[in-house]
Amino acid sequence: MMRAARAAPDAIPDETMTIDFETYDDDNIFARILRGELPSETVHEDEHVLAFRDIAPQAPVHVLAIPKGRYIAHGDFHRDAGDAEIAAFWRAVASICRDLDVTRGGHRLIANQGPDSGQIVPHFHVHILAGKPLGPLVAG
Ligand code: AMP
Repeated sequence: MMRAARAAPDAIPDETMTIDFETYDDDNIFARILRGELPSETVHEDEHVLAFRDIAPQAPVHVLAIPKGRYIAHGDFHRDAGDAEIAAFWRAVASICRDLDVTRGGHRLIANQGPDSGQIVPHFHVHILAGKPLGPLVAG
């Protein structure tokens, strides 16, 4: 279990400070969505990737793309996944952006990793945000 040694900044939810970022949790929300135990509004699915609408959208378009493999964040995904899996993931992200029609207007990809980023779901995911001017890169 990884715990931050200092107080959480206000913008970071308390729960992220106690998430285990070193051992994959098979009961995390996205693992449960992948097993069909929780519903999701799917926008894309293939052999390696699932993408679905974020339950608390931060922009008019807010989609999460996740690999189907057991990865906690981008660090272990890019260390441990096979080349075909990594290529399939990023090709799918680009394809999803085209399907969402957010290439011309623009979009932002975000991948949080660990407490300082505010990551709350310990299954690697990329946020696809679009549909309005997205403002500064980092809040505050
Ligand atoms: P992160 O802070 O990068 O870990 O972001 C996790 C995201 O997952 C947040 O934007 C949540 O709103 C989103 N989320 C949590 N539970 C669900 C769910 N059941 N379905 C869709 N999105 C979810």
